[in-house]
Order: sequence, then C-alpha cells, then structure tokens
Amino acid sequence: LNITLLAGGVGGAKAAEGLAFGRYAQRAKVIGNVADDDEFHGLWVSPDIDTLIYSLGGQIDRQQGWGRKGESHQTLKELAALGQDTWMTLGDLDLATHIYRTQLRKQGVSMSEITQRLATRHGVNLPILLPTDDTLQTRVKTPSGWLSFQEFFVREHCQPDVIEVAYQGADHATPNAAALAQLSTSDLIVIAPSNPVVSIGAILSIPDIRQAVIDSDAYVVAISPLIGGKTVKGPADKMLLSEGKSVDSKGIYDSYQGFLDGMVIDLQDAQEADWLQAQGVDVLVTPTLMKERDDKVNLLDQVVAFALDKQ
Ligand code: GDP
Ligand code: CA
Repeated sequence: LNITLLAGGVGGAKAAEGLAFGRYAQRAKVIGNVADDDEFHGLWVSPDIDTLIYSLGGQIDRQQGWGRKGESHQTLKELAALGQDTWMTLGDLDLATHIYRTQLRKQGVSMSEITQRLATRHGVNLPILLPTDDTLQTRVKTPSGWLSFQEFFVREHCQPDVIEVAYQGADHATPNAAALAQLSTSDLIVIAPSNPVVSIGAILSIPDIRQAVIDSDAYVVAISPLIGGKTVKGPADKMLLSEGKSVDSKGIYDSYQGFLDGMVIDLQDAQEADWLQAQGVDVLVTPTLMKERDDKVNLLDQVVAFALDKQ
C-alpha cells in the first residue's frame, strides 16, 4: 500500500500528523506546497514546508498552528529598530531554519535535500517530497494590484478582495522525479483539508504534477477544508469565489474535478452528500474538525479505510 498526501500548511500538517502517527505511517509520503515561499531579510522562508516539519517533529506552536513552540522574537525586534519591515513574524528559533536553508541553497543544495536534512533534524518520520525544486510563487491580484502571497496573507490579513490567483513559475518549473514517481506508484492519493487554490492548487499548477495525478491509477480522495460551509481559518472562501466556485462541497469538488473518486465532508455538511454522490463521487460523512492528535489519527485512519473499501 502506497499513500500520497497532498498538503498545504496548517490543514495539511494536521492530516500529515494523522497519517504519521496512525495505522498507515510506514505507507505514506507527503507532497508539500512551496508556492508560499518568499525572501525576508535576505533569507528564504518556506512556510508550509516548515509547518509540516515542525508539526511532524513535535516542535510546532500548537496554539498558532505554525511557528516554533517556546519561541522568542529578539532578532525581529532588533530588525524593527533598524527600520526593517517586520510584519512577517519570524521567531529566533525559526530564523535558524531560514538561515540554514538559505546558506545551503546558495551552495547549490536542492530544496528537496534541504527539506530532508531539516526533517531529519526534527525527527520527522513521514517523507516530505517537494513538487519542484524550482522557485514557484503564488501571486494574488487585488483591487490595488498584485501582491505576493505573504503580503496578502500576513501583511494585509487576507482583507483585500481577490480578483485572481496566479502561480508564477509554474509553467517552467521542473517537476521533481521523486514526486512524479510517488504519484505514479500510489494506490491512494489523499488531498488534505487544505486551501484548494493556494495550497493544493499551487502544487497542481505544475502541469506534469497535475497530469501525474490524473494519470495515476490511485483512488483520489479529498477531505473538505470547509465545515458548515465555512473555512475553519484562512481565505479559501474568497479564493474559491474568485475562481467562480461556490464555498461548499460543490466548490471543492469543482476544484478537483477530473480526478476525484471520493470526498470526505463534515457531519455539518451532510445535506451535500446526495449532490456529490449524484456526480459519481463516493462520500464519507464524519466529523472533520481536528484539534488533538487523536482527532487527526482517527480521521486519517477512517479516510484510508474508506478509500481502500471503495477502491
Ligand atoms: P495554510 O497553508 O496554513 O493556509 O493551510 P492549508 O492550506 O493546509 O489549510 C487551510 C485550510 O485548512 C483552511 O481552508 C481551513 O478551513 C482548513 N482546516 C484547518 N483545520 C481544519 C480541520 O481541523 N478540519 C478541516 N476539515 N479543515 C481544516
Ligand atoms: Ca500556506
């Protein structure tokens, strides 16, 4: 049994933990999102990959869902005193990760290799693959112009209307052979309850990666990031609307149309199951809010068992 998880940051890391500490731990690999990456203070920051590494390594700030626990912000304070923009909250421990990544990157070490070394340092037991080692960056068009993803997400707190989302570099990005091989040999592809546009959409913006999902014989199941028709957190709602999709199970289905075999929706959205089934999609209705590790493991064990049964 070979399982692939497509994952963004916070929602993705919850699902990754559910796999890493559940029944199928030895059978799974994660493909993460690199399109939220950006440079701050000369350092290359890879937020979604770090969220995966810190979560799986037990170093995450559980309250926030991102960043390091026991973090301090001395360096950022000093940078602010020097007149630098410090809206991107980078703690002292976290900065060590970014210094290390940037240094190796400059030496020509691939982003995949750097990710692996960081994962080893944190004792991560689930392999993390990157869709590409090239630079791929999400851009968000708002009424006042194009923003980088972090400008929109962190600096502007997702407030501006979203007109369009673009994935800069996607067409020229070389897909990683390891990610393509993983997808083509998967029996099961689980799409985490991540933002379908800027997390999963970004991974799938690389044409060969999307094609590998479409071509794969794997059963593809998506966990909806919506509960009661709302996002648990983050801008997935306005991003779905910017693509002309609805903020409900149909909008998630539309995002993954062409390769979706099954969908997992929350109990609160049970009334949407009939519509999905009418489209030929298998549906699992179950509580999907993941707070504690047990919630994550229970949900992911359930999702895998459901998919294996339907396959
Ligand atoms: P980001 O990269 O940190 O924005 O995180 P992701 O893209 O991986 O996940 C963001 C999505 O996760 C949001 O749309 C949330 O609604 C969803 N989400 C977060 N926690 C949960 C949860 O416990 N259950 C479900 N079903 N969705 C969640
Ligand atoms: Ca993200």
